[in-house]
Amino acid sequence: MRIIGLTGGIGSGKSTVAAMLQDHGIPVVDADEVARKIVAPGQSALAELAKAFGKEIIDQQGHLNRAELARRAFTTSEKTQLLNSITHPAIKAEVKRQFSQLEDAGFKMAIYDMPLLIEQGLHKQMDLTVVVDVDAEERVRRLVDKRGLDESDVRNRIARQIDDETRLAAADIVIDNNGTLENLNTQVHALAARLTELTGLTERN
Ligand code: ATP
Repeated sequence: MRIIGLTGGIGSGKSTVAAMLQDHGIPVVDADEVARKIVAPGQSALAELAKAFGKEIIDQQGHLNRAELARRAFTTSEKTQLLNSITHPAIKAEVKRQFSQLEDAGFKMAIYDMPLLIEQGLHKQMDLTVVVDVDAEERVRRLVDKRGLDESDVRNRIARQIDDETRLAAADIVIDNNGTLENLNTQVHALAARLTELTGLTERN
């Protein structure tokens, strides 16, 4: 099965593109969703986190208290590494499971919607990397106006991500989402056709 990485800066429209591709019948594995799933109540990664950082990171209902975990895990780079050594393998295993499931269901390709794809070097493992590109100022506007996020928080998060130039350099295909949603839809329609053609060609070779 061919795996197509989908990434972009925060607020670039990854989720919107993923939903549109899904409408074209292309399945999506959502990295954020997997990251939430592996620490859901009762999951082994959650128990491991509690063992490493203290049972206070789990609330009365058995849910992960993210703020408490962040307070304990992001104090030193060693602790952050410990956190990653617990969560990353669990995420990797679940992502693999979801792709295998799609392959067993007969899909020839699937999208991996992953915000930090390039930051983590995972784009090298993809058959193709699609980057959704939008000017930083427009992304700030959309996240503040449409999602009601705090402007300085958005700017800080953008500053912590790789710059647009580096991200674009890693792209095989760029979707320009500076325009309207209708324009985006047109581009995604063409992308779905291109991906189907590319994976079809690869399958035959
Ligand atoms: P995050 O980084 O938070 O996961 P994302 O990259 O998945 O975000 P979306 O949630 O798809 O981005 O889009 C961010 C916001 O911008 C949403 O409110 C979405 O509806 C809106 N949006 C996306 N594309 C456009 C567009 N072309 N025109 C106007 N608004 C848009």
